[in-house]
Amino acid sequence: MSDFSVMQAQASILEHVFTSQMELVPLHDALGRVLAEDVKANRNHPPYDVSAMDGYAVRFADVAQVPVELKVVDDIRAGQMPQLEVQQGQAARIMTGAPTPVGIDTVVRVEDTALDGDVVSILSQPKQGDNIRPLGENLKTGEVVLSKGTAITPGVLAILAMVKQKQVPVFAKPTVAILSTGDELEAIDDPIDDNKIPNANSHALYAQCKSLGIEATLLGIAQDNEEDLRAKLALGLEYDVLLASGGVSVGHHDFVRPTLDALGIIMHFWRVAMRPGHPLAFGTVKRKGEKNAAVFGLPGNPVASMVCFEQFVAPALRQMMGHKKLYRRTLNARLSHDLQAASGRTLFVRVTLSRETDGYVATSTGEQGSGVLMSMALADGFLVVPADSAGLSAGDRVTVQLLQDMDFQNDAGLEA
Ligand code: AMP
Ligand code: MG
Repeated sequence: MSDFSVMQAQASILEHVFTSQMELVPLHDALGRVLAEDVKANRNHPPYDVSAMDGYAVRFADVAQVPVELKVVDDIRAGQMPQLEVQQGQAARIMTGAPTPVGIDTVVRVEDTALDGDVVSILSQPKQGDNIRPLGENLKTGEVVLSKGTAITPGVLAILAMVKQKQVPVFAKPTVAILSTGDELEAIDDPIDDNKIPNANSHALYAQCKSLGIEATLLGIAQDNEEDLRAKLALGLEYDVLLASGGVSVGHHDFVRPTLDALGIIMHFWRVAMRPGHPLAFGTVKRKGEKNAAVFGLPGNPVASMVCFEQFVAPALRQMMGHKKLYRRTLNARLSHDLQAASGRTLFVRVTLSRETDGYVATSTGEQGSGVLMSMALADGFLVVPADSAGLSAGDRVTVQLLQDMDFQNDAGLEA
């Protein structure tokens, strides 16, 4: 089988991973999740016509000519039901959010009036219906206000609170297990041994899952032998998604592939035409009474592992959580320097982005080796160089995928 392109690999993965079941979670836990059912309004909001301003509720016919004097017959506050009907030549003082009295059709702002005793002068001519928010303007009883598939932001959560949805139907989060493989690896709690390599991948992958709202389980480090690998991979297959890093190349001690075969996993591909991240395996396995489990064999090189997570694992996890937006946001930037390519593989160059007057400028974070973690630590995003590119020059327009810190910037950006 020839190498999959990045897009082929993404399509294959999304075809094989399921969307999770519905579960009910308390309102506050619903943030960042996705609605698994339509939500209907259980009330009208506002529940009656209300004033949008502090002012005077009037009959429009009375104020067709201004200035005009009206007798103030009532004073209505929010939360209080008006008792009087406003008659011809009368007005009611009214506060923002208070229900409008019978008889009136317009509210005049207090700034456009002058009060003398119980007589108010209307000084400027309103339009009929001004400053009244009609019953049901926000929510109408029985109407779908949020549809299945809506991602729950703070704004969406506010609507859920308005319709008193104390328990929210959302798609469940997939369970995820993380396993690192390699005899050379040293666990974070092990004493420092200068001959070993500290395990970065388990923790990087854990953090990447967490940034998607998923608390993954760390299964530790498997040694490069079939027995240990088999036992730990089998444990990982009890989760919806198993992320195993290292040991997926074709080296003499790369046992992940034969061990996954031996465990009955159907492998959909083994290699992707990309850099970093060429060795990347994806497979699924049937589980009794449950949906398929998915296994990602991620490259051992830390940068490659992280890039592959962003390109392949994150979209899969987001699909499982019911999200419709699966991919990192991309933007157009200008490259600040020449860049060699011509590899026949899609390149994911770690770059910083700076905001200039004419848009964003992308600059490589430096040494781009797939083991150079600093290139990831410094990155604002991945510059995507298509597989057929012959190289790029300073000033070229490029596509950059944003990493999550790009949601924020140093200055408020409010000046025109
Ligand atoms: P492998 O894919 O197992 O051949 O590993 C490729 C490179 O990545 C080797 O230099 C490994 O030492 C390194 N590596 C593998 N797993 C990890 C890990 N969990 N943390 C840091 N480096 C790793
Ligand atoms: Mg290895």
